[in-house]
Amino acid sequence: MKKILAVSAHPDDMELESGGTIAKFARNGYDVYHLILTSGYKDRVSISVKQRRDEAKEVADILGIKEVIFFDYQDTELKTNGEIISKVDKLVDKIKPDVCISHHPFDSHQDHKAASEIMFAVCRQGRVKNLLSGSPLPYRPNVFAFRPQFFVDITETIEIKLNAIRAYSSQYEKFGGEKLIECINAMAKNYGWAMGYKYAECFEVIRMDDSLWL
Ligand SMILES: [Zn+2]
Repeated sequence: MKKILAVSAHPDDMELESGGTIAKFARNGYDVYHLILTSGYKDRVSISVKQRRDEAKEVADILGIKEVIFFDYQDTELKTNGEIISKVDKLVDKIKPDVCISHHPFDSHQDHKAASEIMFAVCRQGRVKNLLSGSPLPYRPNVFAFRPQFFVDITETIEIKLNAIRAYSSQYEKFGGEKLIECINAMAKNYGWAMGYKYAECFEVIRMDDSLWL
């Protein structure tokens, strides 16, 4: 049984960047764990921590995630330091994931950058052999620093991804409802175009061993 640990800065990040891939891995028998580093409390939409956690659990069910782990760091203030790295270290020791997925280090959101640095630190010395950074969303600058090498055909799971995004009702409304869905759908179509798939998600490979293939 292969295991995946997705590490996101905020409760609603992972389905936007890699929801189709996570749903595909889960459907193929992987155990998927999702660590959310901040509570998302300072978000511009004034909703409670509990509501965002409830939404995260609902989304986990839609994507087929086995367990969501909530840390409670302050949104917008996420720091890479020894304290948080040793907390995530303990989780990695417990789960022993084969694959880690997080944000891209050149993402313009400071929390996303920190989450990717934390992931790189905890995967040191081969503790996690496969390390992927998800695609930053094009509405933020710096997307051109993203160099995708690993493309996942999500044609079978695009609807699951879009429904997961809709289930985050607070964020779905904040980003314009079906307008957001239209943009995410177009992004997946565009990445799919590169590979001859109808829909794709893609990742920058930080490193990858041969166990996923051989
Ligand atoms: Zn985020």
